[in-house]
Amino acid sequence: APVRHVVGQTKIIAIINQKGGVGKSTTAINLGAALGEMGKQVLLVDLDPQGNCSSGLGVEKSLIQQCIYDVLLNDVPLEEVIIPDIAEGLDIAPATINLAGAEVELVSEMARENRLKDAVGGMRGKYDFILIDCPPSLGLLTVNALVAADKLLIPIQCEFYALEGVTKLLESMKRVKSRLNPTLDIYGILLTMYDSRTTLSKQVVDEVREYFGRLVFATPIPRTVKLSEAPSFGQPITQYDPKGRGALSYIELAKEVIARG
Ligand code: ADP
Repeated sequence: APVRHVVGQTKIIAIINQKGGVGKSTTAINLGAALGEMGKQVLLVDLDPQGNCSSGLGVEKSLIQQCIYDVLLNDVPLEEVIIPDIAEGLDIAPATINLAGAEVELVSEMARENRLKDAVGGMRGKYDFILIDCPPSLGLLTVNALVAADKLLIPIQCEFYALEGVTKLLESMKRVKSRLNPTLDIYGILLTMYDSRTTLSKQVVDEVREYFGRLVFATPIPRTVKLSEAPSFGQPITQYDPKGRGALSYIELAKEVIARG
């Protein structure tokens, strides 16, 4: 096991795209695990009511007493919901389906946009990276992530209409940046489910690189069967198939993420 170093400046990164199925949870799990294996201390905050990060890392849902919902709406301290060492170097604040109610219940709360920021802000200095897995919408939960985050990691699927919705996401980012979180910016754009055999994938890569330039990570994540299987075994890809293409790409991505700091 790597020697754990003294934690440096914490980076809070929201993994965000209001489109579903683009690889947010897969990236949160596997980037988190890769960073953890490289000796970083990582907290994964599951902000998606589907709780895919939690189940994908083998958290038994019926055993979760309190989740991120209770942090946002019941003033439960974040420490109390964190499950430590779910993988090497990786802790998780899990989500349950209760979180689905938060979107509506937050509306009538004071400081509703700042709930997550207040909670994760208290974790600065304890982790190198705090990764927030966002829900597939631009509602209040996502706004909470935009306010809490230092930077955004935007996964884009190498499929038809890859950039659809991105303008709207960037508008949300700008709105939050101008009012609530002036230093918010894009950390990187991640191409996901890349298939080197198709011209469509290559076209999407070109299109996204043209639009975002050097913000795009050099490593695209390939579409692999192992990556889609790993969650049903409750394991990150670095455990489920450590030598495969999926694991190697998430490790390469983790190196880029560290280097970008
Ligand atoms: P999101 O969190 O954006 O909704 P997910 O990470 O849950 O997206 O991915 C959507 C589906 O695609 C899941 O079934 C997941 O296992 C699968 N998937 C994600 N990334 C890959 C990949 N690189 N290769 C193969 N399947 C993938």
